[in-house]
Order: sequence, then C-alpha cells, then structure tokens
Amino acid sequence: MAAAMIQCPACGEETFLRREPVYDGFVRTGETLSCVGCGHVFAREAEIPFVSMERPKVFSDADRSKKVEVFTSSDRGHTCRHCRHYVTNPFVQRCGLHQIEVQATDCCPDFSVKTEDEEDDPLSKLLGKKGHSGHEQP
Ligand SMILES: [Zn+2]
Repeated sequence: MAAAMIQCPACGEETFLRREPVYDGFVRTGETLSCVGCGHVFAREAEIPFVSMERPKVFSDADRSKKVEVFTSSDRGHTCRHCRHYVTNPFVQRCGLHQIEVQATDCCPDFSVKTEDEEDDPLSKLLGKKGHSGHEQP
C-alpha cells in the first residue's frame, strides 16, 4: 500500500502515516496508526488528517485550451468513423469532404462529429431495429 500523507496535529509536520499490525497472540486484532515523524498515535482512522495528494495542478493557458479542443463535447475521438463526412459502403470507406478513401480509424483535421440524428446505420434499418418490436405498456 502506498504511504499516506498526513498533516500531523501533534508535530504539525506533513509526514507519513505508519501502519503497524497489532497481534493478540497470532490473531491480528487491528493496526496501530501513528505519525512517522513524532510517533503520535491516532486512535481511529477517522481522526487522521490525511493530506490529499490530488493537489490542483497548474496548467498553462495553452495546455488548457488544447485539452478543451481535443474533448469537444464528445469522447469518441476524431476518427473518421465518427465524422459526419464519413461515407461507407461495402467496398470502400470515403471522406465525403475530401473525396478520398479513408480508414475508419483515420484522424482528420476537418473532423466534424456526427450527431445522433445523423447516425445512419443501414444494418439496423435492415433488421428493423428502429421502433419497438414488442407491445408497449400504456
Ligand atoms: Zn507527528
């Protein structure tokens, strides 16, 4: 287990928590939680002032804007397969914008995400997946 950082109330230092198993004979009955720095023992884990390791990271503005650009309201990624310009038929996959042959996994600088309305899956139409097959309860 990774060492947990604590802000010890006894010595006031940011230090580490020491966990030591407590045995009653051969039976482990619990563990002692103490400060590595001064040896202050915490009675319960709830009392321990853990220091969060997830401190806010400092991003430059450039990093921030880049990140937003990559994850524009979609986690699908900029692959042709999710692009509105992606045209596919049984023989070829094409980019309707550039009029070139593409792969589903290609990335494109002119990627434009295909919305749900534009999802056009000929297979599901063929199989009649649109609409409900069963009776709906009122
Ligand atoms: Zn301490």
